[in-house]
Amino acid sequence: MAKAWLALGANMGDAKAQIESAISHIAQHADIEITKQSKMIISKAWGKTDQSDFHNIVIEIATDIEPKKLLKICQEIENKLGRIRGEKWGPRIIDIDIIAYDRFEIASKFLTLPHPYAHERDFVIDLLREISPLTAEWIVELAGKD
Ligand code: ATP
Ligand code: CA
Ligand code: CA
Repeated sequence: MAKAWLALGANMGDAKAQIESAISHIAQHADIEITKQSKMIISKAWGKTDQSDFHNIVIEIATDIEPKKLLKICQEIENKLGRIRGEKWGPRIIDIDIIAYDRFEIASKFLTLPHPYAHERDFVIDLLREISPLTAEWIVELAGKD
């Protein structure tokens, strides 16, 4: 099975409850097993700073679902929880990003792996380092090669 790492974030409504709800949707999927979960942190908004703080968590999953299908599943869960796409990097009910999928490197319109901003975001890299230090190190090193 493949391993993948997902970053979840929210800063509208009950952000903690929404992250927990998203995690339980992921856990309920027949072909996804959650194998690790970081602590939950509160971070300042990134990219567009004039908005509420975020709650963030990173999880590790084991799955045979291929990356693009996995992204679709994440987006379906976002939609189910009521995410409405507004301005870029704006407030959101829930965001689920694929940070990495094994050591895949993909650059397509729909999906980039590892996530293009992962190495610039402490709320991703620090939480990833907690549950998979080697993956965090790989992402940082890869970004340094650009
Ligand atoms: P960012 O991707 O910088 O964190 P965002 O999460 O706010 O920003 P979204 O509006 O949630 O951006 O997603 C925009 C698009 O990003 C999605 O439609 C998706 O196709 C694309 N995307 C590319 N790579 C990834 C990835 N690794 N994980 C999630 N979405 C991705
Ligand atoms: Ca995001
Ligand atoms: Ca996203």
